[in-house]
Amino acid sequence: MPGGVKTEVRTYQMYINGEWVDSQSSKTFPVYDPATEEVIAQVPEANAEDVNRAVAAAKAAFEDGPWATTTAQERGRVLFRLADKIRQNAAKLAELEARNCGKPIVEAEYDIADVATCFEYYGGLATKILGYVNPVPDNAMNLTLKEPIGVAGQIIPWNYPLLMGAWKLAPALAAGCTCILKPAEQTPITALEMANWLADVGLPPGVVNVITGFGETCGAPLVQHPDVNKIAFTGSAAVGKIIVKMAADTVKRVTLELGGKSPNIFFADADFEAAIDGALFGVFINQGEVCSAGSRILVQKTIYKKFVDAMTEKAKKIKLGAPLDRDTKMGPLVSKEQFERVRSYQEIGKKEAKVAIGGGRAEKFAKGYYVEPTIFYDVSNSARIAREEIFGPVAAVIPFEDEKDAVKIANDSPYGLAAAVWTRDIFKAFRAVKALRAGIVWVNHMQPTYVEAPWGGYKQSGFGRELGPWGIEEYLETKQVHINLNEAPIGWY
Ligand code: NAP
Ligand code: MG
Repeated sequence: MPGGVKTEVRTYQMYINGEWVDSQSSKTFPVYDPATEEVIAQVPEANAEDVNRAVAAAKAAFEDGPWATTTAQERGRVLFRLADKIRQNAAKLAELEARNCGKPIVEAEYDIADVATCFEYYGGLATKILGYVNPVPDNAMNLTLKEPIGVAGQIIPWNYPLLMGAWKLAPALAAGCTCILKPAEQTPITALEMANWLADVGLPPGVVNVITGFGETCGAPLVQHPDVNKIAFTGSAAVGKIIVKMAADTVKRVTLELGGKSPNIFFADADFEAAIDGALFGVFINQGEVCSAGSRILVQKTIYKKFVDAMTEKAKKIKLGAPLDRDTKMGPLVSKEQFERVRSYQEIGKKEAKVAIGGGRAEKFAKGYYVEPTIFYDVSNSARIAREEIFGPVAAVIPFEDEKDAVKIANDSPYGLAAAVWTRDIFKAFRAVKALRAGIVWVNHMQPTYVEAPWGGYKQSGFGRELGPWGIEEYLETKQVHINLNEAPIGWY
């Protein structure tokens, strides 16, 4: 049996200071398969005492452990070895994520491949953290050094469990930080499975700790802990706001990747077939449980009716099914709570707009948190289904008149994570790219995400950037070093 698993029914332990441990209270909580509604695992319920233990381990590893003096080259090699382990075990990890999240297995396989790519990218970047020589007007040498921020608390959501973990762990480790990762309560399993390889790949005890628990009783004490230097959070805007307030008392560095209500804009001159595909893919991939989901579909009035009809026809063909079935294009939502949330928005939408397709539970499944892919049209941008993040397969189609109108509607949102624009007119496309207030803008595509390119939002979608060189910056402090080259006294007095 692998480390951390105590029984065949998979009661996991968590990983603190290089050891598999129960929570100090000995409490556990269940993890579900949302397609069958059955319990598939039990994991420890960490509380503030467990957080203290993990933070003490991470602090000791940062200050006194061998990690503090590890070279960038060795940190890079550690990340490459971890990527290899992920690739060797990809099939198992993908299956676990498909079962635990309800996402189609084919999508889970892409996610796990991206996890390995992320560790590889930052493995390479570890040796490319550069300082500066600053040209100060004195006989001196003035330098800028980049140093790891210290102990990082990392709190992640359930929609891309291991990938969100990789986006946080990989840059932190490349920078030389130590980490405490708290996965979402719904999906802690793959992070625990990965912890099995951390010692093998060369991570000393305490460098990465994985603790499982609930937001209020495990996440909050991590955010408040005085020995945690940085919090990296991905999740809802509501929790993000709480985190900023909690982190203020100890002046922690905070990065927030929050939600969105991203506009996917279709001009009349767009390639029609590609546009319909792009509209559906943008909002229904991963059951719509995507922070950058193109959940506001803005369509130019001259093609509006034809567009809604074509989208509806094609949406009828989306195959809902068991996550492990390779033909499945949409599985169940992650949890009962999320199912109820999405169902409630379907009901709100029926009062606010017209239904093109869907609007309820997918009744052909006796069990599981399946909902119908749902398209509302004639939606006002002031409707709740156009303003609030639903985080499920619910599209709001909104008509617009012209370019100016499209940009105005698109930017009229508290969020600003992503946006997409579809047109064959290069001038129109570039004008939209400039005008849209979003951290990511796609042209004639929606959702491609690359570890080489920055990810993060404007406005209430958060601050800070993940991925690329921007991602590692968020784990670095900047130190100025001034070396006086005059041997004589300053001569002031
Ligand atoms: P959530 O409820 O905000 O939870 C996210 C994480 O925060 C979980 O680990 C959660 O623990 C923890 N948490 C909850 N309350 C906390 C508190 N008071 N103190 C500290 N931690 C706390 O979000 P979710 O429902 O898991 O995920 C969906 C959200 O994530 C959506 O809004 C989505 O847009 C966003 N998201 C954003 C991105 C991006 O890159 N911008 C990517 C993916 C998802 P529990 O496990 O107990 O809930
Ligand atoms: Mg939650």
